[in-house]
Amino acid sequence: MNHLRVGDAELFRIEEMIDTSFVATDFIPSFDEAALAPHMDWLAPNHYNPATGGLSLSMHAWVVRTGRHTVLIDTCVGNDKDRMPRAHWHQMDTPFLDRLRATGVAPEDIDYVMCTHLHPDHVGWNTKLEDGRWVPTFPNAKYLFGEVEYEHWLANPSDNSVRQNAINDSVLPIVEAGRAEMIRDGHDVDGSFTVEASPGHTPGHHDFRLVSDGKDAQFTGDALHHPVQIYNVDWSTSACSDPLLAAKSRRRILEKCCERNSLLLPAHFLTPSCGHVVDAGGGEFGFDWGQGE
Ligand SMILES: [Zn+2]
Repeated sequence: MNHLRVGDAELFRIEEMIDTSFVATDFIPSFDEAALAPHMDWLAPNHYNPATGGLSLSMHAWVVRTGRHTVLIDTCVGNDKDRMPRAHWHQMDTPFLDRLRATGVAPEDIDYVMCTHLHPDHVGWNTKLEDGRWVPTFPNAKYLFGEVEYEHWLANPSDNSVRQNAINDSVLPIVEAGRAEMIRDGHDVDGSFTVEASPGHTPGHHDFRLVSDGKDAQFTGDALHHPVQIYNVDWSTSACSDPLLAAKSRRRILEKCCERNSLLLPAHFLTPSCGHVVDAGGGEFGFDWGQGE
C-alpha cells in the first residue's frame, strides 16, 4: 500500500494483485525491446522481464480523502466474477476490502466511486455478490460513469465475454440500484476533481484531475498502462479501441502533467505507482518515480 498526500488530500493505494500475464509484443504491437535499452536497469525484471517477454501490471484502486469526501477511483477486477476465458480474473477471492478497511476507510464511508472507463479491471468492486445478486459494494456512494462510455457499451454490446460480463454484473446493477450518475468532460466533483476527456483506450475514457491546496494530480486510468509508454508515447495497446487517438490523448496528458507539475497516477504502474513527468524536449518525456518533495 502507498500512502501519500496531494495538498490537503490524503491518498491510499489499494492493491488487488500484480498481473504478469501480459506478453509485451501481444499487448503493445509496436513493442521493441531495443528501444528500452537506456531504461533496462530499472525496468528489468520487475516492470518487464526480458527472459519471458512479460510486462507486469499492478491492479489497484486509489482512495482519496479530500477533507470533505472520500473517493475511490477505479475498482479493479473484483471477487466472484465470471471472467472466463481470462482464468486468473475468474472467480477471484482477494482481501481487497480488508486492505481498504486497513486504511481506516470502510465501504460505507465511500462517497464517490469514480471510474475512468468501464473495462473489467476498473469496475469490478463496484458490486459484490449477496444472496445470488450483484449489489453495490459501497452502499452510500454515488458512482460516476462517463456518459459517452456508458452509451457506447449500451449501443455496442461486446462480443468479448470478459468485457460484456463486467458491464452486466458491475455497471448495470449500479444503474438499476439508482446509484449511478453520468458525467461528461469538464464535470466538477466536490470542488476537488475535474473530469478531463482522454478518449482512445475506450471511446469515453477520461481522467480525473485533483487540485488541492495548490497541488495537482492526474488519475489517468488506462491512458497509460505501463511506464514504457512514457518513453514511447505512440505505443498504444491491443486493448485500445482507437490506438492513434489513445496516443494523442497520452501525449496531451504527459504535456499537461509537465505544464501543471502534476503527480501522474496511472491505474497499473507497479509501486510506487506514481511520479512526475519530465519534459525531455523534442516531444520526449522522462519520469521521476514517487511523490517527490
Ligand atoms: Zn486497466
